[in-house]
Amino acid sequence: MAKPSVAILGLGIMGLGMARRLLSANFPLAVYNRNREKSAPLGAEGAFVAATPREAAARAEITLSMVADDNASRDVWTGANGALGGAAPGTVLIESSTLSPLWIEELAHQAAAQGCRFLDAPVTGTKPHAASGQLLFLVGGPAETVEAARPVFSVLGRDVIHLGPIGSGALMKLVNNFLCGVQAASFGEALSLAEAGGLDRAKAIAILTAGAPGSGIVKRVAERIESNDFTPVFALQWMAKDISYAIESASKKGVSLPTAAAALSEFKAAIADGRGSEDFSAIARTQKAGSAS
Ligand code: NAP
Repeated sequence: MAKPSVAILGLGIMGLGMARRLLSANFPLAVYNRNREKSAPLGAEGAFVAATPREAAARAEITLSMVADDNASRDVWTGANGALGGAAPGTVLIESSTLSPLWIEELAHQAAAQGCRFLDAPVTGTKPHAASGQLLFLVGGPAETVEAARPVFSVLGRDVIHLGPIGSGALMKLVNNFLCGVQAASFGEALSLAEAGGLDRAKAIAILTAGAPGSGIVKRVAERIESNDFTPVFALQWMAKDISYAIESASKKGVSLPTAAAALSEFKAAIADGRGSEDFSAIARTQKAGSAS
């Protein structure tokens, strides 16, 4: 069966790996990135490098966006020369960035007005999972659109979980990420207390990661703390964004998230300290540094 033509909007840490994965599976691919320097290598690898999101979407049966936040998504879909202006009726539009359900709803309406089919499909997994097709897609939208998108999901992901109507994937992703953010921030506090009390940091980390507190996210943060390498795999500023969207979504539903609010203030302080582009795991280091000063 012929592979559908695909456009990827956004070639950051995640989008670049996803685009390369599609190219290696021989999908006809158009790419767009705001900073064109990031698109050029993909041109050499066989992708069509579009000058605008509109041009990329005009060449694709399935267009997938993987950009930073609501503002970036608004720009690539609905800005001047945005993808919605180029997408043909009936084509499938997938928003895989981690965004607010409020914006997803608005975007879905605009897509429907163009006669396009829309899914919110954020992902769990990180840089290596994007590059190796091991993402987990959390999807909201009609079941038949999920089926239409399946050839792309199958190459990029290890699984697809269809959670319900539009916005369900976005909400689930925020639930997932605020819980990760809170644990990362708490782990930093735990290390601060251990060290302030004269405990050996390496022993404390070994006990915590092997014991009940040793969740996947705590283990991942511990690895980065021990290697003292905070090269971004998932940027701290995007974790702050996710926690803040989770708090906003919860408040619209009359739910309060006090531990998320506390973690967000730690992430905001780290951003104010110039650490927004570091890996989110640097939140644990920030708190240690804070307690020492
Ligand atoms: P990233 O490396 O920082 O890349 C961000 C992308 O967004 C870049 O392509 C950037 O373009 C683009 N962008 C930002 N503002 C824009 C605007 N106003 N107009 C057009 N494009 C804009 O981020 P990432 O790690 O790939 O994350 C992308 C999304 O996936 C985020 O929503 C993130 O929360 C989510 N996510 C990330 C991970 C992870 O582990 N990294 C995992 C799951 C989900 P330029 O290159 O021009 O700046």
